[in-house]
Amino acid sequence: MLDVKKIRLILELRESGIADSNILSAIEKIPRDKFIPYNFRNQAYDNIALPIGDNQTISQPFVVAKMTQLLEVQPKHKILEIGTGSGYQSAVLSKLVRRVYTIERIKNLLVKAEKVFKELKISNIVTKYADGNHGWKEQIPFDRIIITAATPLISKEIESQIVEGGIIVAPMVEKNKQIIVKYKKIENKLESETFDDVLFVPNLSGIE
Ligand code: SAH
Repeated sequence: MLDVKKIRLILELRESGIADSNILSAIEKIPRDKFIPYNFRNQAYDNIALPIGDNQTISQPFVVAKMTQLLEVQPKHKILEIGTGSGYQSAVLSKLVRRVYTIERIKNLLVKAEKVFKELKISNIVTKYADGNHGWKEQIPFDRIIITAATPLISKEIESQIVEGGIIVAPMVEKNKQIIVKYKKIENKLESETFDDVLFVPNLSGIE
């Protein structure tokens, strides 16, 4: 049953403009149901965000696919994700790049995500319990950075941790609206391009 729903989801993503077959195949490989609490698992392959506890959500599959596509990842890339949440977005990225570094500020969620990575035998995701807005200095520079919680601005600290030519994709809060923004670092400056309206939980400071 979940398999039929999964195939339907892949087709839906393709129809909504996700053309990269590597991304569709990564989404096909990662069992989204494992990242979701038991009581919502029958909806795992619906194209919707779902609660994962601690007032947070696993992003909608379309948003995961869209942000991944905007990142223009290559196999050798080293990626930083801010906002591990369920771990689903990291798991999808782990099929596409060399290594994913992911930071979460809610301990409980990080522990759950780490368990799923282990169960799925994913070994190229490195996790950190911290406020991700400071990035991950010990691992710089990153080829790509993805922020998965709505953010008012990209800090200088984050901007400094990406390579020249690198891409940052983030849901930005703009005039009470949330939009996906793709930034490219060109000659040490971030150039931006905006995409669809989306809904994310907020990026908060400190740890819980
Ligand atoms: N990528 C996740 C999306 C989870 S929702 C997934 O695929 O499930 C966003 C997550 O960002 C939440 O878990 C929230 O706790 C976390 N978050 C918000 N602000 C943060 C910050 N400053 N540093 C690290 N994590 C943060």
